[in-house]
Parts: sequence; C-alpha cells; structure tokens
Amino acid sequence: MTEATGIVGEFLALKEETDADLLAMQCGDFYEFFDEDAETVADELDLKVSQKSSHGSSYPMAGVPVDDLTPYLTALVERGYRVAVADQHETADGHERAITRVVTPGTLIETTDDDAQYLAAVVREGDGYGVAAADVTTGQFFVTSVEDDDSEGALLTELYKFDPAEVLPGPDVRADEALLDRIRERTTATLTLHAAESFAPGRARHTVREQFGDDTAESVGIDDDEAAIRAAGAVLAYVEETGQGALASVTRLQTYSGSDHVELDATTQRNLELTETMQGDRSGSLFATIDHTVTSAGGRLLQQWLVRPRRSRAELQRRQSAVAALAEAAMAREELREVLDGAYDLERLASRAASGSADAGDLLRVAETLALLPRAAEVIDGTERLAESPLSEIVAGADREAAADLAAELDAALTEDPPGTVTQGGLFRRGYDDELDEIIEQHEAAKEWIETLDQREKERHGITHLQVDRNKTDGYYIQVGKSEADDVPEEYEAIKTLKNSERFTIPELEAKEREILRLEEQRGDLEYELFRDLRERVAERATLLQDVGRALAELDALGSLATHAVRNDWTRPELVEGRDLNIRQGRHPVVEQTTSFVPNDLAMDDDRRFLIVTGPNMSGKSTYMRQAALITLLAQIGSFVPAESARVGLVDGIFTRVGALDELAQGRSTFMVEMQELSNILHSATDESLVILDEVGRGTATYDGISIAWAATEYIHNQVRAKTLFATHYHELTGLADHLERVANVHVAADESDGDVTFLRTVREGPTDRSYGIHVADLAGVPDPVVDRSRDVLERLREEKAIEAKGSGGGEPVQAVFDLSSGSFQQGGESGGERATADGGAAAEADADGAALDPEAEAVLDQLRDLDVNETPPVELLSTVQEWQKRIDED
Ligand code: ADP
Repeated sequence: MTEATGIVGEFLALKEETDADLLAMQCGDFYEFFDEDAETVADELDLKVSQKSSHGSSYPMAGVPVDDLTPYLTALVERGYRVAVADQHETADGHERAITRVVTPGTLIETTDDDAQYLAAVVREGDGYGVAAADVTTGQFFVTSVEDDDSEGALLTELYKFDPAEVLPGPDVRADEALLDRIRERTTATLTLHAAESFAPGRARHTVREQFGDDTAESVGIDDDEAAIRAAGAVLAYVEETGQGALASVTRLQTYSGSDHVELDATTQRNLELTETMQGDRSGSLFATIDHTVTSAGGRLLQQWLVRPRRSRAELQRRQSAVAALAEAAMAREELREVLDGAYDLERLASRAASGSADAGDLLRVAETLALLPRAAEVIDGTERLAESPLSEIVAGADREAAADLAAELDAALTEDPPGTVTQGGLFRRGYDDELDEIIEQHEAAKEWIETLDQREKERHGITHLQVDRNKTDGYYIQVGKSEADDVPEEYEAIKTLKNSERFTIPELEAKEREILRLEEQRGDLEYELFRDLRERVAERATLLQDVGRALAELDALGSLATHAVRNDWTRPELVEGRDLNIRQGRHPVVEQTTSFVPNDLAMDDDRRFLIVTGPNMSGKSTYMRQAALITLLAQIGSFVPAESARVGLVDGIFTRVGALDELAQGRSTFMVEMQELSNILHSATDESLVILDEVGRGTATYDGISIAWAATEYIHNQVRAKTLFATHYHELTGLADHLERVANVHVAADESDGDVTFLRTVREGPTDRSYGIHVADLAGVPDPVVDRSRDVLERLREEKAIEAKGSGGGEPVQAVFDLSSGSFQQGGESGGERATADGGAAAEADADGAALDPEAEAVLDQLRDLDVNETPPVELLSTVQEWQKRIDED
C-alpha cells in the first residue's frame, strides 16, 4: 500500500500520537473517522461508510456533523472505547489539526447514565494496594489503601464497590496478568495502561498537593500512605491529560477506613443481592426494592450507603432520627418529595460548569435547583417534627443565602428559554450588560429600519407590489411585481429576475445588511464572552453546588427510607454495642414484597452466638439467614427494618458463603471457590462480625464435607467467636449444641402427613433430622421410578441406622456411626472401645464389614497395638514391619 498522504495521511499520523482506540478528526463541519476506525464506528453506531481516495488507494470514511459529536462520542465511550478528538484550528496560513482531548469511559462528562461513573487507579505497594477513585461527573474523589492477609481480595472488594468504568493499573499491577484477569472478571471496566511516570511517588504527591492544597493529604491522614497517594496522583494526572478539564470540580479528598468501616466483601455484596441479583439483574435487588428516591443524586447516595454501611452509632442514630421524623410527618414528607422532584443533578452540573461543557440551559438548571434549598428548608422549618430533627442540620450544612444569591444572579442574567448553542447570542436578558444592550438596541434599530423599508419605498415611489425580504443566496432584497418593475427609480439595482417579479437592492439596504451582520457577530462574540465569565463564576462556586447537591441528595435518600418504612410497616431498630441480634417477627425485605411472608423471630446474644439452622430443602433456611444479614445491614445504614421490633448489635463486618452458581459458570471449580470463601471468612471475621454460612462442605465427599463443616464450626466458635448462622444438611452437626457452649439449634418447621410435606416457614428451637429432599425431587419432576427407588433406599438406611443404634445393646455392628462427642467415626456397637478413625469412605467400609477381617491380619493388628515404638530399636522395628508385610501378603 502506498503511503497515505493528504487528509488520510494526516489522520494516520495523528493516530500514531495517541494510544486511544479511535480518533475523530475535524474536517470543516464534520468529524471524520478513517480506515479501520471508520469501520468500527460505522458498525457500532450504524453510520454509513463511504470511500476516500488518497493517491491511488481508497480508505473507508465515516463522519458526524460537528454539532452532533457529543452524542456519538458518548455512545462510543459508553461502549468502552477511548476516543481521541482532533480539532481544527484556523492559523495565519490555513488551518492545522491537533488532538485536544481523549474521551474515555472514566472521564466522560456527558454521560447519559444516572449511576456514578468512577475512574479508578490501583497500585501495589509492598503487600498492600492503594486505590483511588474519582467520579468526574460529580467531583467525588475517594482514596484508600488495603493491606491484610488477603490484600488482593480486599482490593477486589473495593473495586467491586465502585464498579468503575475505567481502571488504571499501576506498573506492578500491570505485570500481574492473573490479577488483571480477576479485575476484568469482577468489573466491567476498561483497563487503560496509562503512563507509568504518573504513578511515581514524588510526582503523584506533587499532583495531589496541587489539586487539594499542601496540607489536605496530611489532614485526612494519608500523607504517609504511599500506596494511597500514588493511586490518587495517577487518577488526577490521567484526568488532566485526557484534557477533559473536569479537575476543577474535584475539590474534596475523601478517605474511608478504620473504626467506622463495616467490612462487606465482594462475595457478600453479591450474595446479599444489594445492588443486583445473583443473575445480574437490577430489579429484585435490595436497592431496587427500597429505592424511592426522586433524584438521581439521591439514588446514587442511597446506593452508596448500602454498599458502605457504618458503625458509628452517632451517625446511624442521626439518620434514624431523620427517617423517624419523616415517617411521622407524612404531609411534610410528601411536600419535601415534591420540592426535590424538581431538582436537577447539581453535582453533575457543577462538573459540567467546571469542565466548560455547561450551556445556558444547564446554568438555569443550576439556578432552579439551588433555589430548591430554601424551599426545602421552609418545609422543614415549618414542620415542628422535622425542625427538631437532624434534617434541619442537613439543610443548614449548605449556605442557603449563597445558594439563593447565585440562583438570583443566574436568573437575572439568562433568558428564560435560551438556545442550546452558546456562540450565537440570545442568551442574556436586557439590562445584564450595558455594552450588550447597546449592540442589541442598534441591532433592533437596524432591523426596524429594514422592516419598515417596504412601507417607505412604496410611499416614496408609488409602487404597490413591493416587499423587502431575505434569503440565503441573495441576502436582503426589494422585490417588485413584474407589472411595476419598470417603474422603479434609478438607484434600484437589479439582482435577479423571477417569473412574476424582479429583485433589486439599494446601497442603503446593503449597508444596513452589513451593519446587521456585524452587530450579530459582535453580539454572538460578546454574549459568548459574558457566558464564559458567568459559567466561570458558577464553576468557582463548585463547592457550594456540591454542598447543596449533597444536602438535597441526603434529604432525598432519607425521604426514600422513610417512605419505604411507612409503606411496608418497618420499625426503627434499637442499635446497641455488644453481640445481640434480637428480632421479633422479622421479614426478608425483598421476599416480603412478592410473597405472603411468614415472619420469624431470631434471638442471638453473647451466650447464644452460633445458630445451626436445619430444616428441609426449600423450607426457608437461606431466606431466614439472609433476612438476619439484611436487617443488620439496613440497621447499619440508618434505615428502619422489616420486623415488629429489632435490637441490633453493631457489627464490624458481614461475611457470607452461599451457593456459588455464577462462579461455576465462570469455569472456576465450585468446591475450590467454596473453600476460598470459607478461608477468607475464617481469616477476616472477628468476634464483632456477622457470619452467614449456607452449607459448607457440600462440594466434596460426605465425610470430607462433614469434617470440614465440623472443624469450621469449632474454629468459629472457639477462635473467631463471630455471631454466626450456619445452615447445614449435615444433621450430625446439630449434636454440637450439647458440646459447644454458645451453639444452639433452630430449625425451619415442616408438616408431614400422608407422605405430603407442607412447609410452615416457621423457625423453631431445636434440631430436625429430616431433609425432605425426595419430596422436593418429586416436586421438581424427577421421574417416578427414581423417586420411588430413593424412598426405598432412604427407608433401608433409616432402618439400618435404627438396628445399628440398638446394636450398642450387644448386637452385631453393621455400620459405622458418627460419634458426636469426638467428631470421628466409631465402629458401631462397641461401647466406647476400639476406634477406627475414618479419614474417608474406605476405612469406614472396612469397619462396616470389620467382622470379616482374616485371622492373620487380626494377629498383625494385635502385635502392632502392643508394640512399644519408643522401646524398640530401629533395626528390629524394620524387620518386624517386613515380617508383618509378608504375613499379610501371603494372605
Ligand atoms: P432453603 O434455604 O431452606 O432451601 P429458601 O430459603 O431458599 O429455602 O426458601 C425456599 C422458598 O421459600 C423461597 O422461594 C422463599 O421465597 C420461600 N420462603 C422462605 N421463607 C419464607 C417465609 N418466611 N415466608 C414465605 N415464604 C418463604
């Protein structure tokens, strides 16, 4: 292929300069994509591809009009592409083109989605990781670092909470393919390998200081946290370099960690279906169920609360009191919701102002929304119940007067229905600027002169069919009917002949036309300048906008919690220190929406810290345990809870392990995943955590599984001491309640009569020993012969167990029995005597027909038992063992 020249050549050369996926290059009134980019864009956006020839070669080309670029860009970026934009600039000798910005999934200001849009950077530092995440659309900026036994897990948990649109892996992370794969698995982020220098400590620290001031890092406690600083610096540098200019709205550095933090790992967030279901749907999640917010900022905040529950009792009680007040003051709550309903997304508007992409309509929306703060305050101050609640502090947190002033300033400046373009005038009200008024007056006078010209000319020259008009090609003209065309005065200069009329112009008209064009240009330029000043002033108030936005969002989120509480008869939980979890008539917040739900009690405290939950399959064990976790979680975001009453001891973390369907779909072994999750819980949970185990050990052979479940129970009970609910189908475990002091049994009851099983959904004290699995198999349509045969088998197993139990009275042992007190398998029927520790099915089988051991082997065993290893010289030991081997082999 010959080297492309001309416009295509220029495109390809610019493409070399950027690592963006696509390049949009301005060519006059269009942004064009060439070559492969044209194909990609045409495919994604349904554009037509044409061909551009360049020196004998032909290149695909697709373009979009300059004014329409934004929606196309947005669509491309939301599909995960990073798009570089090269603008065309006029120069003294023609024009030149240069890349002015790169629009990426993490830096897109014009997003069409209400969700938060995070750009995250991840760096490795020693055994830990630093994470920074910025939402340029709202100016939110978070930074933290994680380091513990499973730093990688903790990192993925953080990323999962942000669900970033784009991730910048630092140099170390980049080299770790396995970790990159896990990030890809856990998020939908575009991974961007950004310049490694921006992650360097010195440079990053400098960037952070420039953005937030010299002392901020120190005052929020991350100054000597190299990992956090490096990640923060990289995010800021990247935003800056993409040229999106949104940095001005990033004003506050937020860190989180420490004592107020409730650990909620990624697995648990998914298991509890906080923001999406296990199947990945949003509807059916806890958030979708409780969300009644009326603004997008309110929705984002509520979602943020859900994935970041708190431990600070003061903060939670503050939210509770606000919810309680709103729940009681129904009228005011509705009024407040109506006020908020008119709110636009102030945080986002602040970012658009700061990045220079806000238009006049956006500024009016800022004004409209700012003006809602005093109105919301009025509702709150005017209702005693609300005025005495923490709500009044929330509105007081933003500067009401400053908000009203800025709103008034914007209203006074901008016309009611300004045009969408900011360069062509028509934005400002009269009286805003003297110079502008002057231009407008002159413009109007000139227009007036033209509008009345026909009248004057008619009178002056006695022509009846005369009109003054304007079109694109001829500009202003005087049109005279054919019959009178010969009567026009001499100064009329003919410019066009039509079928029934003639068009003329006169010098004065031409002069006026030039004047009008000049005035229009002046007006456009001046208004654009004034507008930029005004937008700049709004951008300077970004913090005010964010404060007001935050206050309105908080009112919205609290109003949503109150609304849900009232509609669903939720109650205010009592928050206590210590390990109580006492729920009367609790319900599952999501399941109660679609089912006539049977409420259940739950009682846990210091001395009753570990509940083993048994009951038939499908009876409601999972629901009961999740309900406990969700009620705890709701309590720790300050919400009311679905129960008649609840006393909730604040936890430092919620850990869950439930069926791992999705992991299976990803091709990771279920049992491995199950054990990884268990391992994480055993490492991370503390005596102040809540642990939910929904079956442990099911993914392996029974004896293996039971042993692991057994040992895990002991370990949690003795070492971890976390508040734990453990559902198991190993009924053997229920015996542990007799041996471990803080373990108790509960079961979900079912009623079995005439072979039919009715699920009662009621949780009762004590264990149960029946699974009703066959009943469920029947319900599920497993063929009759299989169902019947399993009934037979079950019957036999039960009978034999019964015989075997009697066997301890002296009968022949036929089967191994599980010994609850020791946690090992004993040979049935021998009272406390010989024990064959089973570490698998094989040994147990040997025991089962143990009576059949041949005499020779029996003799060897006897000798082995009697042998005192410590007193026998090694050489003798060796020969004895050899002899034994011979005796058994001969057999
Ligand atoms: P398990 O864990 O015992 O197999 P699940 O908790 O999955 O059972 O519950 C089985 C079904 O019973 C679910 O569809 C759930 O909606 C319903 N269910 C569970 N608990 C209740 C309850 N208390 N009231 C009404 N329906 C319930």
